[in-house]
Amino acid sequence: MGIYTDLGVRPVINADARLTRLGGSLMPQAVRAAMDEAAGRYVDMFELQTVVGRRLAALTRNEAAFVCTGASAGLFLAALACMVGSSLERIARLPSLEGCPDEIIIHAAHRIPYDLAVRLAGARLVTVGNVVQTFPWELEAAMSSRTAAILYIAGEHLSRGALPLAEVVALAHARGVPVIVDAAAQLPPPENLWRFTRDLGADLAIFSGGKDLAGPQASGLIVGREDLIAACAAHASPNQRLGRPMKVGKEELVGLLAAVERYLAQDHTARIAHFERVVALWVDALDDGDGVRVRRDFPNEAGQPTPRALLQLDPDRVGLNGSELRRRLWEGNPRIAVAAAGEHAISLSPDTLEPGEELVVLERIRQALQP
Ligand SMILES: *Cc1c(COP(=O)(O)O)cnc(C)c1O
Repeated sequence: MGIYTDLGVRPVINADARLTRLGGSLMPQAVRAAMDEAAGRYVDMFELQTVVGRRLAALTRNEAAFVCTGASAGLFLAALACMVGSSLERIARLPSLEGCPDEIIIHAAHRIPYDLAVRLAGARLVTVGNVVQTFPWELEAAMSSRTAAILYIAGEHLSRGALPLAEVVALAHARGVPVIVDAAAQLPPPENLWRFTRDLGADLAIFSGGKDLAGPQASGLIVGREDLIAACAAHASPNQRLGRPMKVGKEELVGLLAAVERYLAQDHTARIAHFERVVALWVDALDDGDGVRVRRDFPNEAGQPTPRALLQLDPDRVGLNGSELRRRLWEGNPRIAVAAAGEHAISLSPDTLEPGEELVVLERIRQALQP
């Protein structure tokens, strides 16, 4: 059997997305081996963080890098770094932010559930623009001596209504304000590991370690300006400070390093070509030209340049809607997760599947569509 089945918990075939509620992603052998080895020896954690950070900075072509417990923790530490800096005198007064700039500017179009992480650090969010549009003067008018940073959420799907990142960076830097980019799910392409910071000039960019990087679930990567990365470290574990509840372990540190090394060595063109073949297979096999229409969808739900299949049902012809199809897939055997896409459709992702699972998904959907 297996560890989940022994517990009476059913494993999932994930054709939905890299979602924390489904376990995030699956770690490849190289990452597991690194974590397993790290788990067997004591080490100086300050030294390990510094050395792993330096290696990750070189790999991602950034000035500096820091490993945290997830992109949300990265947002928390980045907010503290921009509001408080590394000053021990200010750190000693935390959680009071007296005397520190404590406003973080965000586009209305970028309000997402994860912005709670910067509010947890004590930041007050100042929203600019609206979901439809934002003008440069609105951003300029929002900046003041109280501004600690601008938080920019990257992703094609969130770009409508927000100013382009390069313009935000130019306006912010003219006023000496740093820009934090939440790029948690913006991989692939791997070049994004340096694009937001080195190419577009953002001060910090934050990635999830447990999404496409396939590193440890409880890991995240902050890259960017050396002084701000040092400030992130100043607030984080192993220090007994505000970041301590988000403690990163030696296992996550070496695991994320192994994951980034592997990710940069992967052939991403071949990977995406494989996803295209899987999507084409689903389209060919499931589209019946009648009650079940299937087409390629691009980019995916997080704005990543990878294809998905969108399966649209005509409930009058097939006698079920999208949520009933999802329920049948979830409750059947093996348990399969697919994404909702409105009332009468589902989305299928190839990039979260293990080799061969695309055929299991195909077969189970065929069965589920039977009257
Ligand atoms: C997934 C995600 C997060 C949270 O990342 P974790 O690594 O799970 O903490 C934050 N922001 C965005 C935009 C995300 O997609």
